[in-house]
Amino acid sequence: MDASPCPLDTKYANQIAALLAPPSPQTIQEYYEGLIQKEKCHAVRIEINTEHGKGVFSNRKFEEEELIFKDQILVAAQHSSNKVDCFVCSSCFRFIGSVELQIGRKLYLQSLGLSVKKECCHQTFSNEKTASSSSESQNEDHLFFQENSDNAGQSSYGENSPSKEVLESLMNEKLSLPFSKQFSLPSIVPCPGGCEEEYYCSKVCADSNWESMHSLLCTGKSSCSLRQAAIVKFTEHANSTNDIFILAAKVISFTILRYRRLKQSLFENSKRPSSHNSTNDCNLSLLLEAWKPFAMGFKRRWWDSIALPEDMDSCVEALFREEMRDMAFSSLQLLKEAIFDIECAPLFSLEIYGHIIDMFELNNLDLVVASPVENYFLYIDELPSPEKEEAEKLTRPFLDALGDDYSVCCQGTAFYPIQSCINHSCCPNAKAFKREEDIDGHTVIIAVSPISIGEEITISYIDEDLPYEERQALLADYGFKCSCRKCRKEQPSR
Ligand SMILES: [Zn+2]
Ligand SMILES: [Zn+2]
Ligand SMILES: [Zn+2]
Repeated sequence: MDASPCPLDTKYANQIAALLAPPSPQTIQEYYEGLIQKEKCHAVRIEINTEHGKGVFSNRKFEEEELIFKDQILVAAQHSSNKVDCFVCSSCFRFIGSVELQIGRKLYLQSLGLSVKKECCHQTFSNEKTASSSSESQNEDHLFFQENSDNAGQSSYGENSPSKEVLESLMNEKLSLPFSKQFSLPSIVPCPGGCEEEYYCSKVCADSNWESMHSLLCTGKSSCSLRQAAIVKFTEHANSTNDIFILAAKVISFTILRYRRLKQSLFENSKRPSSHNSTNDCNLSLLLEAWKPFAMGFKRRWWDSIALPEDMDSCVEALFREEMRDMAFSSLQLLKEAIFDIECAPLFSLEIYGHIIDMFELNNLDLVVASPVENYFLYIDELPSPEKEEAEKLTRPFLDALGDDYSVCCQGTAFYPIQSCINHSCCPNAKAFKREEDIDGHTVIIAVSPISIGEEITISYIDEDLPYEERQALLADYGFKCSCRKCRKEQPSR
């Protein structure tokens, strides 16, 4: 592979090395102790050992099925392709509006011919890296929706489906569905910056997302038009290549804003003006502090570690990796146009960008929130006669129009700081599992067998029922060879 195309990689080599250096065990310990306090996950602690690095250990006994802890989202994004199906809070990923709005909006967008791509881009994109160049046909309002040029005019939206007028009255809640009040959702809070891409379940979510990352990435009226255009271009590129770039942009924006707040409080607390306030120099210790939450995540350089598509010949491997790197670089250039900050310049190096992307690919942290629309239709289906028949007169046409897609859940990728410390086992004692009451993007870790005090909590990163060889092959992508109880037993003897 040629030398890096990014001049910042050499210019900021020292700062980059500092950002990517593994934190000391003491720093790790202090960070997670603080986080566990804040998230009130007192039932667990983080321990570090030389063999497996970080691990999560129990502080008490757990019965099978018992909740071990819930972990908050640090940064997350809904898959672009999922935005047609589910209208959720951009901060906590709770469904918002009403059941009527969820149904009406989805059918309305489908009737406009906006595609509902089933697969999530970042998992499949390596096989379709040349996919969709339809971005010219997108405009700002439909930033997140890919127009389905392949089936123009023959979208899945059938002729007998409810008319646009009916869908509009569902969306603006003039038409209400029976028993929908029992599935009430938080009302919609718009983005404080006035963009039409992000909506929230509450003012708290809107403000915290604005302060932590969105204020740099908002395309609303409050941002300058040059930046708006640059962000739109960046997002279009990410949607047509790999939507994980959107998460990487959020990480960078999060770190810049944290850096600025840290600098501000340093300035306010010091009597004499710091020498850093008048210059554009990067204050590395502040940048390291701002970056700390991401310094904790294990990561490599994405294009070096990404698994090759199955059907790919190994002789084109180098070419493939170079293509991935160049794609990340194109994305980074677009992001730089939008939000570059000279004081945080090392964050805009390709080296850092590549590591951020890998952090999400590797930690495989799926964000899933069940749809209230599914629960609603199940409820109607379970009503006694004749109430059921009466209700279905109204609901049936919508259910038919939605087809099998009626139950699509909110899907995305998230970084959960504590969950990401849980080690893998092919015979795990815990799993990530959403219960009925878990209606937002938090992850929930549940015991699958009794756990004793001091035992390490493990989950399976892969399908643990696969045969030994297949499991090891999948885990190699995570950079380790599994030697759990099950693997030791099944390991072929030589
Ligand atoms: Zn929310
Ligand atoms: Zn906005
Ligand atoms: Zn194993």
